Amino acid sequence: MTQPKSIPCPCGGKIYDTCCARFIERNQLPGTAEELMRSRYTAYTQHNEPYLKSTWHASTRPHDSIAQDDGTKWLGLEVRKHIAAGDKATVEFVARYKVAGRAHRLHEISNFVREEGRWFYVDGSFPEKNK
Ligand SMILES: [Zn+2]
Repeated sequence: MTQPKSIPCPCGGKIYDTCCARFIERNQLPGTAEELMRSRYTAYTQHNEPYLKSTWHASTRPHDSIAQDDGTKWLGLEVRKHIAAGDKATVEFVARYKVAGRAHRLHEISNFVREEGRWFYVDGSFPEKNK
């Protein structure tokens, strides 16, 4: 899972090496839920299932495989809101992607929890699902 270090980070950060690579490749712990969320987005772009599972809370982690290379092309991430309160946090974001040439957007409010200093993704809600 190594990539050229000076590339822009898929999550929108300036340089991959000093952005999400710290967490994905060097096992540093994200200090905030937003950093974790960004690194999980980047992991999706890399189809990095081990990272996604290790940052997914055990209570909601899927058993099936995730993030397979199903032709989804991730185009960009926009973090809209990050609200942290103690060991809980929510991050609202819009991720854009393409499947089979068609553009889509995922608007999600993700819930995170911190346990023993580590942030985990718990679940998310989709404010525009009924659109
Ligand atoms: Zn990043």
